[in-house]
Amino acid sequence: MEITYEMLAAKNKQFLWHPFTQMKDYLADDPLIIESGQGRKLRDVNGNEYWDGVSSIWLNVHGHRVPELDKAIQEQLGKIAHSTLLGMANVPAILLAEQLVELTPPGLNKVFYSDSGAEAVEIAVKMAFQYWQHKGRPEKKGFITMKEAYHGDTIGAVSVGAIDLFHKAYSSLLFPAYRIPYPFAYRSPHGDRCAEFCLQETEALLQEKADEIAAMIVEPVVQGASGIIIMPNGYMRQLRELCDRYNVLLIADEVAVGFGRTGKMFACEHDGITPDIMAVAKGITGGYLPLAATLTTDEVYEAFLGDYEEKKTFFHGHSYTGNQLGCSVALANLKLIRDTDLVQEAARKAEHVSRRLSRLRERKHVGDIRQKGLMVGVELVADKETKEEFPWEDRVGIRVCRRCRELGMLLRPLGNVIVFMPPLASTEAELDEMLTVLEQAIVDVTEGA
Ligand SMILES: *Cc1c(COP(=O)(O)O)cnc(C)c1O
Repeated sequence: MEITYEMLAAKNKQFLWHPFTQMKDYLADDPLIIESGQGRKLRDVNGNEYWDGVSSIWLNVHGHRVPELDKAIQEQLGKIAHSTLLGMANVPAILLAEQLVELTPPGLNKVFYSDSGAEAVEIAVKMAFQYWQHKGRPEKKGFITMKEAYHGDTIGAVSVGAIDLFHKAYSSLLFPAYRIPYPFAYRSPHGDRCAEFCLQETEALLQEKADEIAAMIVEPVVQGASGIIIMPNGYMRQLRELCDRYNVLLIADEVAVGFGRTGKMFACEHDGITPDIMAVAKGITGGYLPLAATLTTDEVYEAFLGDYEEKKTFFHGHSYTGNQLGCSVALANLKLIRDTDLVQEAARKAEHVSRRLSRLRERKHVGDIRQKGLMVGVELVADKETKEEFPWEDRVGIRVCRRCRELGMLLRPLGNVIVFMPPLASTEAELDEMLTVLEQAIVDVTEGA
């Protein structure tokens, strides 16, 4: 039987339920069905090619069908695809753990694997919670999160999430978390003193509640899903100091920002800090396979050591924890990152992107452009002076991205923020082509007749 677009579209409609997708709208449109990819481009079953402008939802590092990564998986397949990490080890899981410890900020010395960013966050939350029990402080069981935070979609991760659109429906199912403000200058009523105000609020909460708080969880430097919101320099250092002063663990969710995305290997490096627990995922395999890790300090790890009868074991694990194929491709990804000097190169290309974006800033409906490394958010507004938002039901973000698709690039918006997050290895010429499409689509939709 020949596989045609029409047949796939019909079966897609009949059998699939897509994530973060209103299926009613989706079914009314022609589905995009990807068949292959090469470099920074994806190709659909009809032969159309598109730039992968959001790195297949913030994952992709070097591009698609990268020979070094393909080969790593093929070689591992010649040995074994998977065996469990419960009570036994495997070769790539060990070698990768060593490299993760070397790459991450000093002091993070132990690696606990899982399969997705949400799981890495769940693990961080459970570790922090149980850590205080082992330290004889069981009353320290609360969490502090930041307003508009996103940490994944499982129940624990949603509990420390704070995007009402995604999370509100589940509120009675969740454990409560205290919310502190994230320094978002563009929409802050405090203007230049936004960060100062946020920090004061944070300290006030800690002063009052630290005795019952296990940990503070933060998306360091860039809050992603809330609309690519960027912290001022030094803010993570100030949060680190507050957590130290009030004896609260700091969890850094580097799922989106890790592995070079913000122009440093990890975002915590911008402020030279080490969190107590760090979650990584997305870019870890170069965008190839689901793999995640939660790293922590000797202090946290050692609190779980004890005699068997003490039941201090960390009772957590997933069937595919430490999967060999995932760990092998992650090792190849890290090697390629080193060999191509990718993090520094990405930082350099980010400056090029920044120069190009300054033109876009002049457009009538571009309210704010936020960029850290190759992580960009373009906030579209109805009125530049008043910063009035486009009405939600106008779907401006969705329409701009739909126009991009017609012009040959795939993006996905966050409300009225157009997210541009190209694969880190994109060349300057490729970035120029992508930015031309981005600008054209924004003009067509917001300034067109
Ligand atoms: C994507 C993301 C997650 C969730 O990762 P998944 O692999 O999708 O579960 C968690 N935290 C942040 C900051 C993210 O961007």
